[in-house]
Amino acid sequence: MTNDGPVLAAPIRVAVAGAAGRMGTAVCEAVEDDGGMVLVGRADHALGTAVADVLGDADVLVDFTQPDSALSNAREAAAAGVNVVIGTTGFDLGELEGLSGANVLVAPNFAIGAVLMMRFATEASALMEAAEIVELHHDKKLDTPSGTAARTADLINQASGKDVPIHSVRLPGLVAHQEVIFGGTGETLTIRHDALDRSSFMPGVLLAIRRVGDLPSSPVIGLENLL
Ligand code: NAD
Repeated sequence: MTNDGPVLAAPIRVAVAGAAGRMGTAVCEAVEDDGGMVLVGRADHALGTAVADVLGDADVLVDFTQPDSALSNAREAAAAGVNVVIGTTGFDLGELEGLSGANVLVAPNFAIGAVLMMRFATEASALMEAAEIVELHHDKKLDTPSGTAARTADLINQASGKDVPIHSVRLPGLVAHQEVIFGGTGETLTIRHDALDRSSFMPGVLLAIRRVGDLPSSPVIGLENLL
């Protein structure tokens, strides 16, 4: 007897490192609300669970921890054949080169608007004389400058040969904001992105979880590579 009905894909099994943190909590909720995924583990010192405890059941590890943990977590996951989506910022992305055993996607910013801000700023930099970046974040952020600002500066510097300065502001009340200000003869142009809530990052994180298993090469840096 043949079964010609639709073949239903198995849900993607997702574990989250940093699950008790601001971003990790939001990612766990987003995964639980997504019909195509199932949350299989929450790793966090604050919960008494290590990354090694949650890898056994996972297809993908999502890491929103801190700069000194992300790399070792990614190595541990890859060694176990678990694909990795990294949102943690403030570590050397070059260290991900050569990591084998699984795919890695890292994005300094998972908000679609931030990806567009970086794209528009890179384009503008070719025609505008000078540029400076002002990044503004909540006062609990550990790394300075932000990963988004560092990535924007890299993209602009590569496209235009400029050496763009970055200014960092840390204040309670802020979430994640960035302005790229261009100056020219008698004019300025400001390209600004505001993440008003951590929900802004979730569509990008879920997209990365869905796609990390099928990357043509690894590591991939930047959500723009999936759009
Ligand atoms: P947070 O301090 O609220 O949470 C971090 C959590 O990680 C904490 O609960 C901590 O106990 C846990 N942790 C630390 N080391 C760990 C380890 N080895 N294993 C498991 N858990 C560990 O921080 P946050 O505001 O949620 O930010 C987390 C990271 O995400 C930061 O690097 C931040 O810059 C970055 N971030 C990225 C994006 C993006 O779009 N890529 C957006 C927002 C924040």
